[in-house]
Amino acid sequence: MKQSELFTKVLRETPREATFVSHQLLLRGGFIYRFASGMYALLPLGFLVFKKIENIIREEFNKAGIQELLMSLLHPAELWKKTGRFETAGKELWKIKSRTGEEMVLAMTHEETIAAIAADTVRSESELPFIVNQFQTKVRDEERPRGGLLRLREFIMQDAYSFDKDEEGLSRSFQKMIGIYQKIFKNIGLPAIPVKASAGLMGGEDSYEFMVLADSGEDEVVICRKCGFAANTEIAKDKKECPQCGGEMVIKNSIEVAHAFKLGTKYSKAMNIFWNDKKGEKHLVQMGCYGIGLERAMATIIEISHDDHGIIWPLKVGPFRVHLLALGSSKKAVWKKIKKISEKLYQDLKKSGTDVLYDDREGRSAGEKFAEADLIGIPIRVVVSERTLEKNSVEIKKRKEDKVKLCLIKFFPSYLKTLL
Ligand SMILES: [Zn+2]
Repeated sequence: MKQSELFTKVLRETPREATFVSHQLLLRGGFIYRFASGMYALLPLGFLVFKKIENIIREEFNKAGIQELLMSLLHPAELWKKTGRFETAGKELWKIKSRTGEEMVLAMTHEETIAAIAADTVRSESELPFIVNQFQTKVRDEERPRGGLLRLREFIMQDAYSFDKDEEGLSRSFQKMIGIYQKIFKNIGLPAIPVKASAGLMGGEDSYEFMVLADSGEDEVVICRKCGFAANTEIAKDKKECPQCGGEMVIKNSIEVAHAFKLGTKYSKAMNIFWNDKKGEKHLVQMGCYGIGLERAMATIIEISHDDHGIIWPLKVGPFRVHLLALGSSKKAVWKKIKKISEKLYQDLKKSGTDVLYDDREGRSAGEKFAEADLIGIPIRVVVSERTLEKNSVEIKKRKEDKVKLCLIKFFPSYLKTLL
């Protein structure tokens, strides 16, 4: 992508309403556009990051053989009445009416809809167990949307649902999903810790939150200094010593990036999901649900990975992996040469399948280009300038490091490969 053609809106100043670092940098870097509180568009730079995170998640699900489906955003209110959540879900549940007065709900989560499908699908043991997954919009009438992408009124979640014939099966599915989530967070670059939590609104039996320690986080976890055992503050309240090793427990701020619930039979009871054994006896299906908020994951990466100059994206989730900068020169012939060599490098990178943003813009100072590159935070910066060309070289710098390296142009493709 040529930066001269990039559809973006870079801000020079930090918007006043943005108090979280991720919010400030996403707005300033032109990743998102704000319509109103809790409502944003992902601009092309932001959408590229979003897609990378989505693909990392999808890849792990594919590897585990979990199928993907897509349920609607509009739900008949009737389904939510069956489970009782039409009344109990609270003011966050967005209720609407059609022109003919049909009551509907905007999806806050999809237990009711997946349960409706399962009730019509599961008949015998042979259809179990299964886990299905989707990436779909969720809507919440938040009282206090804040933090940019951290707490939105509309966002996209990866939400998976497991169905098993008994509790033992549910435990297996639950463990499988915890394992998948650990791989996903490792690949995304988020050091998320599974923390035992209470089930709350979902009304299940057992649950884990995946927490990322961050000073800006609004959740708290209690963590053992010695062995790293972590628990939710509700569960660990009053405990001064670690239940695992007796070590000292401390409270840390954190951001919740995923949740896994053992739902048990709450929804299968309400929605009549059961399987018949050979004697014709009915057994309720055991359900679990598992979700990652994608925009929040994106913002959390920034909360823990930035410096005074901007974002520091991990290699796998940056909007591009390489940022190629052609630095201007007042000498026309030199600029022509810089442009020509940069253009060739850009074409070669594209041909080799390397995603690259090429700052080909004229009339911008080196200082401006460097500042914007730091703000956007693409992991590898490659500079072509009058100075580097004197040595037939390009300059390479990782966003997360200070040191720069000159590399002869002829060795550049093979050297770059070692960095990707
Ligand atoms: Zn411990």
